Amino acid sequence: MKPIVAVVGRPNVGKSTLFNRLTGKRIAIVEDKPGVTRDRIYSEAEWLNHKFIIIDTGGIEPYSEDIILSQMRRQAQIAIETANVIVFMTDGKEGITHADQEVAEMLRKTNKPVVLAVNKIDDPTKFNNVYEFFNLGIGEPMGISSSLGLGMGDLLDEIVAHFKNIEEDEEEDDVTKVAIVGKPNVGKSSLINKLVKEERVIVSDIPGTTRDAIDTPFEYKGDKFILIDTAGIRRKSKVNEEVERYSVIRSLTAIERSDVCLIMIDANEGVTEQDSKIAGLAHEAGKGIVIVVNKWDLIEKDDKTMNEFRNKIRADLSFMTYAPVIFISAKTGQRVEKVIELIKFTANQNAMRISTGVLNDIISDAVMMNQAPMGKGKRLKIFYATQASTKPPTFILFVNDPEIMHFSYERYLENQLRERFGLEGTPVRFIYRARN
Ligand code: GDP
Ligand code: GDP
Repeated sequence: MKPIVAVVGRPNVGKSTLFNRLTGKRIAIVEDKPGVTRDRIYSEAEWLNHKFIIIDTGGIEPYSEDIILSQMRRQAQIAIETANVIVFMTDGKEGITHADQEVAEMLRKTNKPVVLAVNKIDDPTKFNNVYEFFNLGIGEPMGISSSLGLGMGDLLDEIVAHFKNIEEDEEEDDVTKVAIVGKPNVGKSSLINKLVKEERVIVSDIPGTTRDAIDTPFEYKGDKFILIDTAGIRRKSKVNEEVERYSVIRSLTAIERSDVCLIMIDANEGVTEQDSKIAGLAHEAGKGIVIVVNKWDLIEKDDKTMNEFRNKIRADLSFMTYAPVIFISAKTGQRVEKVIELIKFTANQNAMRISTGVLNDIISDAVMMNQAPMGKGKRLKIFYATQASTKPPTFILFVNDPEIMHFSYERYLENQLRERFGLEGTPVRFIYRARN
């Protein structure tokens, strides 16, 4: 699991500038795949062999002090709920503002690590401005200049120093972590309550209250599971764009921490654009995936309905035809136990290891049945294949020229592997290396 770092701070303190500096490129959420749009909310970054995800909670328009304040509270709240490390960014040219104090108060109440950055310290003469920020009461302020790139190394050292527990924590192999994702009102909380067989407390939406994410463990037939907190998704907001952004951030962080994602679709509505966005995140993250169609009790059906529904979903989420689809009612409990079995199953598929010998047999059989593509006046040659990692299963193919590999041929190889090994409910990846 990659640690998640969230940057919060007032408009214009320099968050975007920092973001762009720390991450060479922004990750697009599933490019070139139909139905899934790009999003510029998060990026992957790396420092001293630590890979992490950095989230721009941003999106505040500086209309008025009041609005800024309420939006900052929400920003801080979502950072507290979802991030492993919070970077609180302030402006060393302006000094401490009222909004800074309010946010600092929220951040003081969380037990998540907070790194306080004082930006726009462009030269040593400005360094005296930094000390004032001790008054926020959230630890030692670090003077940086995002636009000039000063203090970046120290800032990153400080951030990754807090990763220790997170990176080590994740080695509990016997627990399957499950993220239940989907749009508001699809039935996530209802399913959680059915799975853990009790009503969970729903958090209050009172501004200024802070709450760390709490995961819910449960056991089924001797297997241990943890449901990753998504309760925050219930919160409603008046600003639509903000709801969208925050629900994507919440889904993203839940997905990132999970082994298996349940992608919940409302049977009444079918696959919506937001659903395919969320599904795209899970696919990109390489997790085990189960598509759960909820509120099945509300659908009028005959013997064909389920198949028709399944086909429609396969077409709408055409980039994950590998994912099993199950039709449930979180209200009546119909097939909820089957969901647990599918979680277990896809977690195993996602962790599957294929021996090098068998893998190479299958690849050469595949090439024999269906010639590899041509390009640049030559034919693609696959010399050797090996599985590099699991979660998701990732295969390295040594070839004469990676550029000749064609998308459709990769699909073909993938299908051959799936035919033989199942690999149901998990994406697979191919990496190509040139060898002569
Ligand atoms: P955001 O709203 O927090 O994302 O802030 P931006 O990154 O958009 O920056 C707001 C303004 O501050 C821009 O005009 C930046 O060029 C400027 N800025 C950002 N970082 C620095 C810095 O380290 N020093 C100075 N002097 N200006 C900066
Ligand atoms: P969340 O926002 O995704 O957590 O959704 P909730 O679990 O709060 O459910 C939203 C609404 O849908 C509630 O009124 C639930 O009672 C209802 N609901 C959830 N699951 C089902 C279901 O399987 N069938 C029916 N008929 N209603 C459901």
